[in-house]
Formats: sequence, structure tokens, C-alpha cells
Amino acid sequence: MRKPLNKSGRVVLITGGAGFLGSHLAERLAAEGDKVYCIDNLHTGRRENLAALTRGGQVKLIEHDIVKPLPIMPRFDAIYNLACPASPVHYQSDPVATLRVCSQGVFNVLDRAVRDGADVFHTSTSEVYGDPEVHPQPESYQGNVNTVGPRSCYDEGKRFAETLLTDYCQQAGLRLRLVRIFNTYGPRMLPNDGRVVSNFIVQALQGEPITIYGDGSQTRSFCYVDDLIEGFMALMAAGDDAAGPMNIGNPAEITVGELAEIVVEMTGARSEIVYKPLPKDDPRRRRPDISRARQVLDWSPKVDLAIGLRSTIDYVQGEIEKGNMLNLCYA
Ligand code: UDP
Repeated sequence: MRKPLNKSGRVVLITGGAGFLGSHLAERLAAEGDKVYCIDNLHTGRRENLAALTRGGQVKLIEHDIVKPLPIMPRFDAIYNLACPASPVHYQSDPVATLRVCSQGVFNVLDRAVRDGADVFHTSTSEVYGDPEVHPQPESYQGNVNTVGPRSCYDEGKRFAETLLTDYCQQAGLRLRLVRIFNTYGPRMLPNDGRVVSNFIVQALQGEPITIYGDGSQTRSFCYVDDLIEGFMALMAAGDDAAGPMNIGNPAEITVGELAEIVVEMTGARSEIVYKPLPKDDPRRRRPDISRARQVLDWSPKVDLAIGLRSTIDYVQGEIEKGNMLNLCYA
């Protein structure tokens, strides 16, 4: 008899489990009583993100790249596929590798899922909407994506993955849950991965200039990591009415310029603001329409930006004090 989607005591696999989101999910699933295996190629993930859990034996970390067939492991009840570089600086540094993760990597995950009869949970992205002409973005919006721009390896890779997962799971009779994640922040995001929240906090704490790309009028809607993980749990536990893509994000939208002001104020920084060119194809605005998640999952985000930023600033401060800071990345 199959176990229901979110029952505890399962054996589960998280690909990308040592990363920012993967490690939070591992923590949460282990707390629910699941036996958690994580695989990660450790390009953007860090062993230390899972250190407490691996020491305690609740989580096992295997260094592996999902582009290669998955190693011998136990039979899984569920596979959560999170492996993929997600910061523009990272996914653009080797676009072909990004496309392989989104294609061959997903095939490898699905081949294992069908062998095990595992439920599949896949992390897609708001980037499937590209530079959106519909605002806010509901799941039904089909997007405005450049197929040959600097972001295309990620955007089109993730779009391909959605199609592959949907068709494969349907043909193989596997349960699939597909989340479209909007900008997420919180402790354990790589302080130097080039994203706006981490860049601004590191710059502010180190008294360096805050780098705004463009005039700062572009918008994003930032979701705190704990809210996102709650959304994951609700989505995996939900019934068949939750099938198909599901936006999980925080609809509170702000401009990048406003974010800079908030970070400067919260850190008491003396940093000046400098303006750099806007990267090509940078979306002008982004905000999730979460009506579907509210209705089907009874989920909505709870953590205000000021609260979430406080704990993120404290985390980055701790990383700086531990000497874990490498050079910042810029687009
Ligand atoms: N951005 C910025 N300064 C930085 C890093 C990013 O102004 O130091 C801008 C970037 O151009 C984009 C927004 O902040 O408009 C969000 O960028 P991020 O890389 O965090 O994520 P994206 O949503 O673009 O994938």
C-alpha cells in the first residue's frame, strides 16, 4: 500500500540538499520523522548547511551530480528535486551545465522515481514567466521568455523541465507536485552569490557601496525561507487538486531601490548607493498571484520583510565574523 504524500517516517531524497533551500527542507522533513538522504555536487551547496543534521544521523549527505545517473541508495518514498544553480551569476557562469541539470539531471531523477514508485516534488521558478507582461503572475500566464539571452539557460531549462516532469509522471503514473518559487531569502543563502538581498546586506555590513543595477525601479517580491518551506509541506500533502504548477511566494512587492533603503536603515550602514548597468533581460517587475495556493493549500506567507531581513542580517553578520566571506559576485 502506498503511503500518503506527506506521511512522516518516509525515506526521502532531496537533490541539492546541501543548498540554501535544500538544507531548510531537510531540517523540516527530518523533524517530521523522515529518513532524509541528500545529494549535492557542492558547487553552490555547503556541507556545513547540514552539519548538525548529519552529525545527529537524521540526514545523510552524498556528494554527487544529478547529471550522472544516481548512485545506489535505498528505495525512496518521495524525491524532492531542488538541484540547480539559482543565482543569475551562478547559472550564467556555465550555461550548458545549467541546461544539463535541467534536462539530463531531471531525467536521472525521474528514472529513479519510476524505479522506486516515488512521489516527485520539483522546484520550478517564477523565471518561467520571463519579463512578464501580465502582472501579478498567475500560474495560467505562459510567460515572455527570450530563448537566446543570458537568462535563457535557466528560464528555458526550467520550462523544459516542467514539460518533461509533467509528461513523464503522467506516462509513468507518478504523483507530481510542481512549485514555482519566487525570490526567496533567509539564513544560509550564500552571502556571496550575487543576489540582491545578500549583496546589499554584505555591502551594508562591510561599509561598501550598495550596487543598484539600473535605476532601481524594477520590482521583486521577497519570500522568507520559512514561509516557502511551509508552502512546500502544504503542497506535498495536498490532494490531486494541487496538481500542476503552483506559485509559492510573497506578494509584497517592492522596488530594488526601496530594498536598498531598508537594508541601509536596518544595518545603520553609511554605504553610498552606486548605480550600475541593468543586466540584459532583467525582469522589470515580478509579483506572484498566490490565489491558487491560498485556495487549494490554505497557505499564505506570514513573515514580514523587516522580520525576515533581521534574521538574514544576523546570519550574514555571523558568516563575516567566522571569516566565511569570499568576494562578492556582480552581474
Ligand atoms: N540587483 C541589484 N544589485 C545587485 C544584485 C542584483 O540591483 O547587487 C538587481 C537585479 O538586477 C534584479 C534584482 O536586483 O533586478 C534581483 O536580482 P537577483 O539576482 O537577486 O534575482 P533575480 O530575481 O533577478 O533572479
